[in-house]
Amino acid sequence: MTKKTERFSPSPFRFPTSDFRPPPSEPDDDRFMGEALIEARKAFARGEFPVGCVLVCSNRVIAHGRRKGTADGGGNELDHAEMVALRRLVKMKPAPEAAAVTAYCTMEPCLMCFSALMLHGIGAIVYAYEDAMGGGTVCPRERLNPLYRDSRTVIRGGIRRAESLSLFKAFFADPTNHYWRASHLAEYTLNQR
Ligand SMILES: [Zn+2]
Repeated sequence: MTKKTERFSPSPFRFPTSDFRPPPSEPDDDRFMGEALIEARKAFARGEFPVGCVLVCSNRVIAHGRRKGTADGGGNELDHAEMVALRRLVKMKPAPEAAAVTAYCTMEPCLMCFSALMLHGIGAIVYAYEDAMGGGTVCPRERLNPLYRDSRTVIRGGIRRAESLSLFKAFFADPTNHYWRASHLAEYTLNQR
């Protein structure tokens, strides 16, 4: 007797439709990471942790996000740049084909954001600077349950890393910034060349 295999389909946008367009390819990465870096610089200018994110579909930016909630010391760990951008994505009518969306993030997404991007069926994640303390993309997906293990989200890292790194160095070198001060990430960042 053959056991029927059930596939969990968390999102109506998970499977490609007839007008499916694949996520941007590598030649577009530099250009769109530049858009995410603009968001990161806006966050930095407001005293926030300098992370930016843009969501790209059909070769254009469809949602922007930048980190909020770190400048006031309030401990907000929800308004990460990726989550801000995703909230804008889910309000769009009609909804874009998620598998054709690429998320450009100036820092490697944390576990929360990585999971949220996978759950939404985002096609690709491209990041600039690795998060040596809290990055989530290194988790062994093959050891997780099927929803994550079978995710087709692809990851590319290190795109325009130096520009993102320079923002984090400036952030951690400023004694008026207290977010993750004296953390492993701060030490790691300030020791990068
Ligand atoms: Zn995050």
